[in-house]
Amino acid sequence: MFCTQCGTNNADTAAICVQCGRNLQAVAPSATALVTGVVLPAGTVPNYLVFAILATVFCCLPTGIPAIVFAAQVNGKLQAGNLAGAQADSKNAKMWCWISFGLGLAFALVYGVLIMAGILSGIGHSN
Ligand SMILES: [Zn+2]
Repeated sequence: MFCTQCGTNNADTAAICVQCGRNLQAVAPSATALVTGVVLPAGTVPNYLVFAILATVFCCLPTGIPAIVFAAQVNGKLQAGNLAGAQADSKNAKMWCWISFGLGLAFALVYGVLIMAGILSGIGHSN
């Protein structure tokens, strides 16, 4: 492997770089932790919390609330080491976000069409 500090090509089994002495084995401690399932740092599974809040505020309140509820549970389940639970909540949060976004977009389109119809009919009458 190549040393990340000085670029010297060392043997793959080398513990330290022959040139500069850098520790070559301490490259991926997080990968080891993930395999054992002990440490699941926040961010391992996206929680969509920001998206959920934005979708709730700007799009659709009734469907945004479950999105926020699911999103809020993701990091707690990660801290508890519950990767499957966190992934399930993440999936649900994303689904409710898109439902909120879709409904909000649909309402905005309908609202826009109605306004356009009103403007066009107003122009028609004034002529
Ligand atoms: Zn080196």
